[in-house]
Amino acid sequence: MAESTKVGIISCSGEEIPAGTVARLATRRTLELLRPQSTVTLCLPLFLAGEESERRFAQQHPTITVDGCEKLCAKRGTEAYSGQVEASLVVSEILGDRLAGCHRSQRHLDKHDEEAVWVVSERIAAAVDDLLQSGRATQEPSATDAAPAAGGVCSCGSGKPAPEGALRVNGREVAIPGLPLIFEQQARRGLEPGDPSGDHLLAAVRIYHPISTEEQSSYRVALVGAYQLFHRRRTAVDSRS
Ligand code: SF4
Repeated sequence: MAESTKVGIISCSGEEIPAGTVARLATRRTLELLRPQSTVTLCLPLFLAGEESERRFAQQHPTITVDGCEKLCAKRGTEAYSGQVEASLVVSEILGDRLAGCHRSQRHLDKHDEEAVWVVSERIAAAVDDLLQSGRATQEPSATDAAPAAGGVCSCGSGKPAPEGALRVNGREVAIPGLPLIFEQQARRGLEPGDPSGDHLLAAVRIYHPISTEEQSSYRVALVGAYQLFHRRRTAVDSRS
């Protein structure tokens, strides 16, 4: 494994059970608040969609997966497409009975969820520290580094201008990490453009891009329009080849 400056953290994308929600929120808390200088997240949907830079990053950096439950979707996906992970954390194992009071939807989060996220994010931070102290991940700049993103952000471009991944929402331009790849993944799955695509697109984008409840309908409209354009261009290219 090449010397690296960052520890990669991959959360499962579970939205169907509370443990998946805790996994995603705890990962984000670690990235943004607890260890922003030494971590970067890898986007599981892009990973599974075949994004080469994501897969190369996980091959070259020590990686921690955070899964909601024993199905270990993030760990299995990472190891299937990249390499062995350095640590695998499972929310249901960490929280045990405490998970019973947690909520699936972010709209219903309360003090109980907050404490659960706090506990899991502390465990993630401790695993990051273990890796850094073990020497498997150093904070020295490395020429062989695969140009990871700045601390606490997605390696596929979160926080940077992303012309191809930009979405116009309520008159302002918003960069969505890996948006073209998310569209491509949905198109390969046969998602047709039009209003019904909005729920699928919103669900896919919300995994790693925070969207407030108030803005969801605006994002949905913007995504439907952008996907329509993407699909039209994709179809045109296909018909020419
Ligand atoms: S690990 Fe569990 S919670 Fe996470 S995506 Fe898989 S089934 Fe859902």
